[in-house]
Amino acid sequence: MADHTSRSIGPIVLLGPPGAGKGTQAKLIAEHYDIPQISTGDLLRAHVKNGTQLGAMAKDIMARGDLVPDELLYDMVAERLREADCSRGFILDGFPRTAAQAGWLDAYFEHEVFDKPNRARCLPIVIRIDVDYNDLLLRLTGRRTCPVCGHIYNVHLQPPRVDELCDLDGSKLVTRNDDREDVIRERLQAYDSQTRPVAEYYARKGRLVSVAGMLPVDQVSQQIFQEIERHAPGA
Ligand code: AMP
Repeated sequence: MADHTSRSIGPIVLLGPPGAGKGTQAKLIAEHYDIPQISTGDLLRAHVKNGTQLGAMAKDIMARGDLVPDELLYDMVAERLREADCSRGFILDGFPRTAAQAGWLDAYFEHEVFDKPNRARCLPIVIRIDVDYNDLLLRLTGRRTCPVCGHIYNVHLQPPRVDELCDLDGSKLVTRNDDREDVIRERLQAYDSQTRPVAEYYARKGRLVSVAGMLPVDQVSQQIFQEIERHAPGA
């Protein structure tokens, strides 16, 4: 087995605004190192779907797009991180979203993980994918989707051959509701005000690294892999 899919990688936190390619990079890291990607949004949606007590408490808050209170998340995250597939490392996506959550996560590792010899014994490395605000607007406002086959285009960066029509089936392309410019500006501002305290928390601890997110996908991954290698407990 390749070294990077067998040795300890440690916890990885990915930060990045909507449109920065965080989801794409999380998947590539998960595949490269064979570690799970853990999204608190997905975990919460599963609770809502299964009608658990947590799900009932979170449902309306999530529907409004507000943050679920910190204390409601901790048991759910701790339980997930204790599962066997997390033992070499994992990628957190969407957590921590507040400085309090970041502090809780550090305390979790110090108390629960460092005394367990077979666990990845290090604090999270935090990778922020940076993309210029105007480039994000271009990426997000240009996005068009085919309502029939789901193929995604970008009128600025990857336009269809015929204006506004799907290359694959000729359908008229549509703009998703949350890709409209006023909504996008709001999403970007919400991200900025939410994430700033988290980034500042990790920057103070000297654990925040940034990668240039405007490069092609594989070059962004290469930068991320280099940072992970530098930080991995076995490095
Ligand atoms: P996401 O899929 O990451 O966009 O998350 C969907 C929703 O779940 C968010 O809008 C929040 O309501 C909730 N959520 C997910 N992660 C967190 C978190 N770390 N802190 C608070 N709320 C969260």
